[in-house]
Amino acid sequence: MKVALITGITGQDGSYLAELLLEKGYIVHGIKRRSSLFNTNRIDHLYQDPHDPDQRLKLHYGDLTDAMNLTRIIQECQPDEIYNLGAMSHVAVSFDTPEYVGNVDGLGTLRILEAVRILGLEKKTRIYQASTSELYGGMPENKNERGFYDELSPFYPRSPYGVAKIYGFWITKNYREAYDMFACNGILFNHESPRRGETFVTRKITRAVAKIALGLQEKVFLGNLEAKRDWGHAKDYVRMMWMILQADTPEDWVIATGVTTTVRDFVRLAFKEVGIEVEFKGEGVEEKAYVTACNHKDFQIEIGKEVLSVDPSYFRPTEVDLLIGDPSKAKNKLGWVPEHDLASLVKDMMQGDVAIMKKDVVLLKAGHEILKQAE
Ligand code: NDP
Ligand code: GDP
Repeated sequence: MKVALITGITGQDGSYLAELLLEKGYIVHGIKRRSSLFNTNRIDHLYQDPHDPDQRLKLHYGDLTDAMNLTRIIQECQPDEIYNLGAMSHVAVSFDTPEYVGNVDGLGTLRILEAVRILGLEKKTRIYQASTSELYGGMPENKNERGFYDELSPFYPRSPYGVAKIYGFWITKNYREAYDMFACNGILFNHESPRRGETFVTRKITRAVAKIALGLQEKVFLGNLEAKRDWGHAKDYVRMMWMILQADTPEDWVIATGVTTTVRDFVRLAFKEVGIEVEFKGEGVEEKAYVTACNHKDFQIEIGKEVLSVDPSYFRPTEVDLLIGDPSKAKNKLGWVPEHDLASLVKDMMQGDVAIMKKDVVLLKAGHEILKQAE
């Protein structure tokens, strides 16, 4: 049985990857952080009793800032594959915590690579590093001649997150070249799912749209509606992470859909999924969205209702205006075929959030209070 170690197993991608590897018969070790509240809800359905002799999912307390902890865990589990998905992954938050993000997302990658080297596992352990399209920074002049970012496009990160991840990218490449390690970067463009963190824009939108449709919330406040992202489904992307480590040679790979969409259009698609049409009016910080039609028997919403405003506090000090990736290499050399497109992604996310919010409606009707959460 192959053994894998996943940092960030409690996150969106870590949870889908753990599912995939367990299905494939792996023993899966995961690193979780100590938290004052339970933080394993994305993987609770995979939980196995530690007393079970056949237990194949094992969790270890740890942190990417703690080299001794990482080295001990790697020594204990002797992994064939390490997926370094752990990170402070929110671009906007990275402007507030720049030193921390450098330590976790940048130096954390070095700690994993160096632990493998110190333990003499260079020839045994293959390493996947979660690199990101944020490395490109959306600089228009750096796209290829077909108008996409690919494996050869220059980097120009535009946030402390991007800058930390660029260290992770290069140190992974350097260890590959210096010590002949099977260490690869997946340069993944934005990928979402019903398990996406609630403060990323897609999930913020699908949660808000579900609440608005069910009468639990009046409107949503967003930042830059003009930003364009290449949004794929996390399930397709974790499959590709595994494929990257099964390849004949260690390389770096772009994973993307090749389609880019504005935040504004994502809002339209999300409302459409629950039968609500919206129209945007006004410009810049004055832009708002209003309901123009409602064709769903389950949702009643007043025509003309204002459901979205721009809040400049969500603008970033430096923005990545547009991302669009060229996944040709992954498709041609590894045979990666995504199963989802944007429409099926939005459908999946909306179904998930409507189901969650319907529970709140039941609780409200039974006289319980629904607490607001910071977004
Ligand atoms: P999430 O934010 O959902 O998950 C991040 C994971 O990292 C969580 O398990 C989190 O733990 C853990 N983590 C955070 N800080 C530390 C730390 N100091 N030590 C150990 N673990 C830590 O991210 P995703 O699953 O969406 O992304 C996975 C990886 O891919 C990340 O590295 C991200 O930067 C990168 N990426 C993501 C993209 C996307 O669109 N989703 C695009 C490109 C790259 P906890 O649950 O306790 O917070
Ligand atoms: P990112 O691409 O990793 O930064 O993923 P996000 O989902 O956080 O943001 C995607 C884009 O949506 C960025 O260009 C943001 O500026 C834009 N955006 C607009 N409004 C919001 C908002 O309210 N929250 C977030 N997170 N992003 C927003």
